[in-house]
Amino acid sequence: MGERKGTNLYYPPDYDPRVGGLNKFHGTHALRERARKLHMGILIIRFEMPYNIWCEGCGNHIGMGVRYNAEKKKIGMYYSTPLYQFRMKCHLCDNHFEIKTDPANLDYVIVSGARRQENRWDPKENEQVVPETKEVSCRLYDDAMYKLEHGIEDKKIAKSRNSSLETAIALNEATWKDDYASNCVLRSAFRTRKKELEKKQGLDQMLLKKNGLNIDLVNEHEDDIKLAKLLTHKRDTKKTKQSHLKRLVSVVRFRDKLKNTPSATSVSGIKKQIGQIPKLPRVSDQEPSTSKPATSTLSTSLVTYDSSDTDS
Ligand SMILES: [Zn+2]
Repeated sequence: MGERKGTNLYYPPDYDPRVGGLNKFHGTHALRERARKLHMGILIIRFEMPYNIWCEGCGNHIGMGVRYNAEKKKIGMYYSTPLYQFRMKCHLCDNHFEIKTDPANLDYVIVSGARRQENRWDPKENEQVVPETKEVSCRLYDDAMYKLEHGIEDKKIAKSRNSSLETAIALNEATWKDDYASNCVLRSAFRTRKKELEKKQGLDQMLLKKNGLNIDLVNEHEDDIKLAKLLTHKRDTKKTKQSHLKRLVSVVRFRDKLKNTPSATSVSGIKKQIGQIPKLPRVSDQEPSTSKPATSTLSTSLVTYDSSDTDS
């Protein structure tokens, strides 16, 4: 904004025209703070990054078009064209990069502090029309024989390109001549696909509503279905085991109660109570897979099973 001060038209009351202008009267340069290093041959300008680079200080990628306050100085001449070098600070770290002009190749060259992202390619590789170089155009102007040869070569290239262009046009014709039919085919394909998607979406919504979930569902996979089936099967077997164990626990508890009753009771009373004991199923019958030797260990393991059952 400093530059604007020089261009406004406010003349203070004590202005003396003999000094030779507003800037001279204020004792300032027309470019203000941008000219603060002018005595060193440096002018501060706004520089726009001409291509993508990587900063060598922080390793960050800096895109084409990012603008910096750069110190511009003249470093030499290429024939009659001055070479300029620009020095600027990375906006992400304390590193400085230096870029200079390269008029011979109509390009910019990184001197230090950064690395160029290589996005250049040969236009001849992807069959672009490349303008003639200076040497060729000069020779075309001077050498009639060369011009004739060049012309024949050009005609050959034009012929080959014509044929490829014709095939492209023919292909386009075949596909799009009856545009109504092509359109119909495309639309019907889209319509069926849309119906499928809508149906799937409806099912998904129903499932989410049923479970009270608010998540994105992914597509169903065959392996997932298999795994889910296996899991439910396993849970069922666990349940039947638990019901057997429950019965065992109740029997064991009942026996413990009997043992704790006072010894003063008559033998007949005890016999009566023994008669009330439900038949204890044999451990080996109930649990064929797990063979447990002592009843004490059985009772402890049973208790833990019982507590887990109340949770579920
Ligand atoms: Zn950096």
